[in-house]
Amino acid sequence: DAEPATRAFQAEVSRLLDIVANALYSNRDIFLRELISNGADACDRLRYLALTEPELLSGDSDFGVELRPDAANRRLEIRDSGVGMNRDELIENLGTIAHSGSAKFLSQLGDKKTEVDLIGQFGVGFYSAFMVADKVEVFTRRAGEQHGWRWESDGRSGFTVEESEDAPLRGTRILLHLKEDAGDYAEPQRLRHIVKTYSDHISVAVKLVAGDEEPETLNAAGALWARPKSEITEEQYKQFYHDTAHAFDAPWHTLHFKAEGMIEYSGLLFIPSTRPLDLFDPGRRGGVKLYVKRVFITDDCTEVVPTWLRFLRGVVDSEDLPLNVSRELLQNNPVLAKIRQGLTKRVLSELEKKAEKAPEAYIAFWETFGPVLKEGLYEDSGQDETLLKLARFKSTTSDLGEGSGDGGWTTLADYATRMPEGQEAIYILAGDDLEQLARSPQLEGFRAKGIEVLLLTDPIDEFWTVRVGAYQDKPFRSVTRAGAELDEIGKDEESEDKSAEDAGGGIEALLAMLRLSLQGKVKDVRASKRLTDSPVCLVADEGDIDLHLARLLKQHQR
Ligand code: ADP
Ligand code: MG
Repeated sequence: DAEPATRAFQAEVSRLLDIVANALYSNRDIFLRELISNGADACDRLRYLALTEPELLSGDSDFGVELRPDAANRRLEIRDSGVGMNRDELIENLGTIAHSGSAKFLSQLGDKKTEVDLIGQFGVGFYSAFMVADKVEVFTRRAGEQHGWRWESDGRSGFTVEESEDAPLRGTRILLHLKEDAGDYAEPQRLRHIVKTYSDHISVAVKLVAGDEEPETLNAAGALWARPKSEITEEQYKQFYHDTAHAFDAPWHTLHFKAEGMIEYSGLLFIPSTRPLDLFDPGRRGGVKLYVKRVFITDDCTEVVPTWLRFLRGVVDSEDLPLNVSRELLQNNPVLAKIRQGLTKRVLSELEKKAEKAPEAYIAFWETFGPVLKEGLYEDSGQDETLLKLARFKSTTSDLGEGSGDGGWTTLADYATRMPEGQEAIYILAGDDLEQLARSPQLEGFRAKGIEVLLLTDPIDEFWTVRVGAYQDKPFRSVTRAGAELDEIGKDEESEDKSAEDAGGGIEALLAMLRLSLQGKVKDVRASKRLTDSPVCLVADEGDIDLHLARLLKQHQR
């Protein structure tokens, strides 16, 4: 290659770098976490590739990350013995927003004030190096390839890529030329502290190599999930969660277990306390990483947990899968299916325990992830009983304000105990907005009779109530369907006196007239006892599709 030509960053990268360069001092430490995590990822990837192509290691199976500070020259080098990058990968990975973390960060931008905090929350990946450096050099060689490369940038005008003799035999060296006010990142003491704080449980050893001294391992490394529970502190769990999930909330619940028997696996799973941003994004990656005998296999395996538990974060480590398991092998794999089954059971039973022992905390969980969990009632018929027990609902008799401790949520069991004599069905009304539902004229007749109606506001509600059909032999029935059964419930003399049929012959003439003028727009016009205040409401016929569902389906057709 001739003279290195300067290439422009993708426009989004420039925007990102602009923000990064102005980051608050208090946030800057995280650049090290990002670069160390990239180094560890690169090691994990090579370790995985080498399972089938051992020649990639060239006889050196040592994996790790090294920090080499040079205070005199205000430099910090971060080395890894991972997979490295070739020229195309360098240009793609360090010139565009290739990865989801940064992309997510960008999608959240807009409000200047929160931008800086978001850097900490999402991690902006490699580009965070420019928080502390005014020049960054990257020397890298892809494992198994002949040529090495050098990338350089000041984080403003663009970057250059050229062939280089200074690349490591395998892996990557990142040389940071620290900003004038960032010289302390070349101090061993500072590095020790940051690694302990942010990267203690990264999968590889992080070593400090200062001057001529012996390399010093800074982190605990190793698989936290393989250690006995009694040796792990709350703080370590939390940090591990932050590391693996790239999250910054405290986990709502932590499950650490070892399954022994027919198949053997261990798991360290977290239920977050806040909603991950990509919870409803079809392009999201799995949140649970798959390991085999402590070797990282993939973080994008949809087989480990069912989609309706996709809020789970953490690690599952199998003893039974072969180490050189391929992507194809992971699909429809019977061992993974067993693991998924076991995990599902475990998670649900933990949730049941929580619901019983800490009902208020459980409501917080339900408000965060209930809509996702309910998808299980549609997709997975095997869990109906437990999921119906775990489900919480708003209803016409719940206090829609915040007030009471249960947040106005009821269980189906409690609903059933409040059913008046003669009520055979669980009445539901589905829509988008709780307050709007509560005001619906469809409810008037039910209110007048003191019959409680569940108000459902998640799109999935329409689907699972149909699939599941009933709770303890009591069918779910939408109040928007015509139904004479309202008459049968709780013998209410007064309302019978006022009944429409008795209202005299005039009503039939009125109905005939209305049918005529609404011809083609409605199927029928009937007199109803379900209205007390409103003159009219729309209902679906028995056996016809529910009104809100019809609207939903129409929207999806567009
Ligand atoms: P992320 O790690 O979330 O993908 P980054 O901005 O940290 O995003 O890194 C972007 C990409 O650059 C990585 O996905 C990886 O492909 C590549 N990369 C970064 N650092 C290294 C490294 N030390 N070794 C190999 N590849 C790397
Ligand atoms: Mg990264």
